[in-house]
Amino acid sequence: MARPFEKVIVVGAGPSGLLLSLLLAQHGIPVQILEASDQLDGRPRAAIYGPAAIPDLARAGVMDEIRRRGFTVNTMSWRRFEDHSFITGMDGRCVADVDGQDLRMACLVLDELDRLLLDEFLTKHGGQISWNHRVVGVGQDEKSAWVDVETPEGKKTVHADYIVGCDGATSMVRKSLFPDFPGFTWDRQIVATNVYYDFEGTHGFTNTNFILHPEHFAVSSTLIQPSCRDARGAALLEADKPSQEKMVAKITRDGLYRVTYGEAGGLTLDQIEERQPMKFETILPGHPKPGDYKLVSLAPYKMHQRCALSFRVGRVLLAADAAHLCNPWGGMGITGGFVDAGGLADCLIGLWDGLADESILDLYSEKRRAKWQDLIDPASQANFRRVSDPDPDSLLERDEVMRACKAAEGDEGMQRQAFMGMMELRYDFTQHYSKNPSQ
Ligand SMILES: Cc1cc2nc3c(=O)[nH]c(=O)nc-3n(C[C@H](O)[C@H](O)[C@H](O)COP(=O)(O)OP(=O)(O)OC[C@H]3O[C@@H](n4cnc5c(N)ncnc54)[C@H](O)[C@@H]3O)c2cc1C
Repeated sequence: MARPFEKVIVVGAGPSGLLLSLLLAQHGIPVQILEASDQLDGRPRAAIYGPAAIPDLARAGVMDEIRRRGFTVNTMSWRRFEDHSFITGMDGRCVADVDGQDLRMACLVLDELDRLLLDEFLTKHGGQISWNHRVVGVGQDEKSAWVDVETPEGKKTVHADYIVGCDGATSMVRKSLFPDFPGFTWDRQIVATNVYYDFEGTHGFTNTNFILHPEHFAVSSTLIQPSCRDARGAALLEADKPSQEKMVAKITRDGLYRVTYGEAGGLTLDQIEERQPMKFETILPGHPKPGDYKLVSLAPYKMHQRCALSFRVGRVLLAADAAHLCNPWGGMGITGGFVDAGGLADCLIGLWDGLADESILDLYSEKRRAKWQDLIDPASQANFRRVSDPDPDSLLERDEVMRACKAAEGDEGMQRQAFMGMMELRYDFTQHYSKNPSQ
């Protein structure tokens, strides 16, 4: 069968680029990943993937392994700052079986998930990745597209039919299309830490806990459950983790948690590191001193709400953080990015199989932008405003989402409805496939 195109270049071996490449390679579409770095990004970032991303991770064949290496997030709570008591929360067990699919949130630290996706891409599908290939320019004409790349061997130009920018927040691909990235940057920054501390045993915390405070707002999420630390789990972690985390996994008896807390904008890394013990002592249950926990990593981040003017210009497309950004409260960043990757894969597969023409790529841009504008942007902004609300004591009375959660406590039907609302992030592009293939 004659194919309408020959090759896709994906710029960036982050989670979105890896998932998209895996889905395309599974379908036999030639894809080359160009990655600026010589390795996957190991910084503490995403860990929790929402229900909307589960179907795309499942069809990529990695969902069972994500739950095995990480775990399933069943519970999410909002807690008072003063005594960390439970205000209200959500219980994901109501979506453990939706027409045979487990749609509960899943947790696995991003660098492990990236490694899993990359292994699948390389070993099962003979995928191609070029490390140390930094894209510095993008061009296109009617017949093809290309990227200019800096490599240790010098400058190169690499051609393909389509270029997809999955190169993250500072995307060179996006900048080559648009000088502007409309939206705003929050004046506060966040600090993401990985820490071993006995939240669950001594302090009764659930999987994910939002601590409400105008200044010291925080979230803590379990990253590794005790069940992962059996002999098999320890061996797995040892084999798969970078040395820093491996060391901690070996020496500790309690779960690894991600604690992310708010800081004033404008502080330097030194100032943030200096203030971290005070922050933990102030925010965390039991008011721990440095000897009471084991800090594994710390990284500050700016938070943005931004969306590109279009996710398609001719043969060049954008997905995930390259296309749109939101603050991480509520875990909507790469959840939305994975849904982009799944949707774009369906559009390119439709083209490849002669079931769609190029207008489906415009539809990709239109529908995915609308999902960001109508759902991800407002919901993620509300998530951040909720944890940093100036009057947390009265929040339950004022906040619609928290009131709905309170009302749904113990009512599985209402809880399920709330979780299924998160599936609205998805859009099925295969409904636009033609019934009569053109080839
Ligand atoms: C503290 C924190 C916690 C978060 N928690 C969550 C969460 O729990 N759930 C969630 O859904 N989201 C979360 N997010 C958001 C999530 O981490 C991001 O949305 C996600 O990492 C974006 O993935 P990406 O593939 O689009 O880009 P990236 O992960 O940024 O990957 C981009 C890749 O492109 C490469 N690259 C960049 N420029 C070039 C170039 N010019 N040429 C070639 N390669 C290039 C980079 O080296 C990198 O490998 C969190 C973010 C933060 C900061």
